[in-house]
Amino acid sequence: MSSITTTGLVSRAARNCLSRGRPGNGTFTGLQKRFVSLQTLDANQKGRERIVVLGSGWAGYSIARDLDQKKYQVVVVSPRSYFVFTPLLASTAVGTLEFRTALEPIRSRRSKVEFFQAWADDVDFGKKTLTIEESVADPWQGRSLVNDQQADDQNDQRTKERKVEVKKGELFDVKWDKLVIAVGCYNQTFNTKGVKENALFLKDVGDARKIRNRLLSCFETAALPTTSDEMRKMLLNFAIVGGGPTGIEFSAEMHDLITEDMKRIYPDLIKYAKITVYDVAPTVLSMFDEKLSKYAMNHFKRSGIDIKTSHHVEELRLGAPAAFQQQGSGAIGADHTCYTIKLKEEGEIGVGMCVWSTGLMTNPFVQKALGDKVKRDPKTGGIFTSERLQVKKGESDEVVPDVYGIGDCAVMEGTAYPATAQVASQEANWLAKRFNKGDIEQTKFTYKDLGIMAYVGDWNAIVQSSGTGVSGRVAWFIWRGAYLAKSVSWRNRILIPIYWLLNWLFGRDVSRF
Ligand code: FAD
Ligand code: MG
Repeated sequence: MSSITTTGLVSRAARNCLSRGRPGNGTFTGLQKRFVSLQTLDANQKGRERIVVLGSGWAGYSIARDLDQKKYQVVVVSPRSYFVFTPLLASTAVGTLEFRTALEPIRSRRSKVEFFQAWADDVDFGKKTLTIEESVADPWQGRSLVNDQQADDQNDQRTKERKVEVKKGELFDVKWDKLVIAVGCYNQTFNTKGVKENALFLKDVGDARKIRNRLLSCFETAALPTTSDEMRKMLLNFAIVGGGPTGIEFSAEMHDLITEDMKRIYPDLIKYAKITVYDVAPTVLSMFDEKLSKYAMNHFKRSGIDIKTSHHVEELRLGAPAAFQQQGSGAIGADHTCYTIKLKEEGEIGVGMCVWSTGLMTNPFVQKALGDKVKRDPKTGGIFTSERLQVKKGESDEVVPDVYGIGDCAVMEGTAYPATAQVASQEANWLAKRFNKGDIEQTKFTYKDLGIMAYVGDWNAIVQSSGTGVSGRVAWFIWRGAYLAKSVSWRNRILIPIYWLLNWLFGRDVSRF
């Protein structure tokens, strides 16, 4: 059994074990709890149509917020009880912003949406029912979705498990009048050896926290008198795999942290610090005009960030490269050690951490539960929808009545809209408006490209909008202003500039907890 499959089993077992261990979650209480919450749900419906939304990301959260609650009972089902403002994640990972500023809770004093912290597990389009599996005690909460937690279950094994879960009240059915599928995607690793186990991802706030912790522990370990210079060099060598906007922005933010704060805190160590971005493609930031991506490249070169294109990662594992271990330079305990990244072009290199951001993988719910019940894009595995965002039936152009697909998990057939927050939120806003007005048959969704931007470090950014490009400090102002304006709540709109100011005045918070 490969290590990847083991993780799948372990995480599932851990989930079951944890929820079993919770007080008051025996068979009887479990059933009772389910019964009570479903009864309350029905009682609260008050003659309204019920819209069940799967997912609390850019698509799911936006539509849930925009729907008219006088007209609809909105039920959100997501393993995550909050929405993540992904464009700010890189900033939170290096302490430019606090984690809170990138989050919005699904439940709040103002929102009246019903919420189940659970995974969508199966759907019955005919009966308009959804089977969900509760996930309140999920130990993977807050972390990127990489593993299909049921990847190794054979069909009959899963059927048995389901029976047990139904008994315990962990698996239950919810009926819908309209269903909106917005489950997003998982992180792609191309099954590169050791990546799921050893890389850090950046899609959820738990990931950002893990990155911040690891980054700081690398510096702290390097500062120990018992650490050899060679190990210092490896611990402070940071690899980012993937040259898309996420990888690039994260490396720029990390560079700022190192040059603005770590340099003052660890003046003797700074000579060892190094950031390298690897990508298999011949260029990075390929969605930008050549002039802007060149600007970004030159800026990186000046900052000392290495961009290595046409590079292939073959493996990532815990521990120093073989050559280093053979030299026997300093015995090192497991928590003192680095990782080894193996490249086709350069062999083994010791790194303190590897942040992985190479794109998207189909959500297993879409892959398996929806499977061939729906028509799917052969290229991305995404759900094909009509121009009205209705989910198409398997192998046909017919649509499934009252089922919609938005965001990263869906592809409007015949279009090539990118998998971005911009598309996801525009689709969500459009669909909510149609539902509120009841005029979906009269219109079609079209995407309006508002431009793209990326932070490149040292208070510089690149912005490209309707044919024109801006770079440098002006672009940086636009970049920051846009995210502030796009922030969802007033709480965060107030908090974000406060943190920007505090960290500029006093430095970033580098406490590790
Ligand atoms: P997601 O936001 O991924 O949400 C999916 C939701 O579904 C999650 O809540 C998840 O927990 C839930 N879910 C998963 N499986 C199930 C299940 N079985 N049942 C129920 N719920 C489930 N885009 C931009 O336009 N501009 C940017 O600047 C930008 N920056 C980014 C920076 C980073 C670091 C990242 C990672 C992405 C960035 N993006 C940006 C892309 C953008 O975040 C995505 O396109 C967007 O999140 C897609 O929204 P979504 O709702 O479809 O999916
Ligand atoms: Mg899409």
